[in-house]
Amino acid sequence: MAATLKASILLKTLDSDIVGDVFSDQGRRGSGAVHVIMGPMFSGKSTSLLRRIKSEISVGRSVAMLKSSKDTRYAKDSVVTHDGIGFPCWALPDLMSFPDKFGLDAYNKLDVIGIDEAQFFGDLYEFCCKAADDDGKTVIVAGLDGDYLRRSFGAVLDVIPIADSVTKLTARCEVCGQKAFFTLRKTCDTRTELIGGADVYMPVCRKHYITNHIVMKASKKVLEVADKARAESCVAAII
Ligand SMILES: [Zn+2]
Repeated sequence: MAATLKASILLKTLDSDIVGDVFSDQGRRGSGAVHVIMGPMFSGKSTSLLRRIKSEISVGRSVAMLKSSKDTRYAKDSVVTHDGIGFPCWALPDLMSFPDKFGLDAYNKLDVIGIDEAQFFGDLYEFCCKAADDDGKTVIVAGLDGDYLRRSFGAVLDVIPIADSVTKLTARCEVCGQKAFFTLRKTCDTRTELIGGADVYMPVCRKHYITNHIVMKASKKVLEVADKARAESCVAAII
């Protein structure tokens, strides 16, 4: 009898724990938001993200800023805009491990999560769903929508269907000064993830993307032919 009573008390305790957890989870479930800021390089995405983060802080919300540990162009543990304004942040290889690394208690107290250079995170969609839908966070995502070949970059476009708002920023075309929508790579390197600044990339309008891309492709071909000829002449010299 005593054992049964003890067991039923234990069961009751477990039940109320579970119910308590479910209620505390449901308190924030569905109350989050996802905002996407995208555009070519030099369009002010990081600046816009920082501006939104600072306005969240000014109304007393608790924030954390994340960026990919792949991008170490500027300071390793801060988000720095092209004009040099910085903000402390976490440099991570992936997003899903952030709650554990940050500490679950601290994570639960967070209201807003800013993600810079979001194209480098393979688990962006999964994380945004968890953070906004389940954990009630406001997630502000900033990243490139397209790569230097104007193909979808990483998972930035994947989060559009779950976003509350999407902002596409533009830069200024480096050739003519008109609005720039695309990022042109100035070198012949063909890796999708080639991290660089103004030395490697420039923002361009549609017209100058097309004309310069044709020139870049032609010069790459010339270089390849020259390389091949050089390699063949080396072989000939060895023979
Ligand atoms: Zn132009």
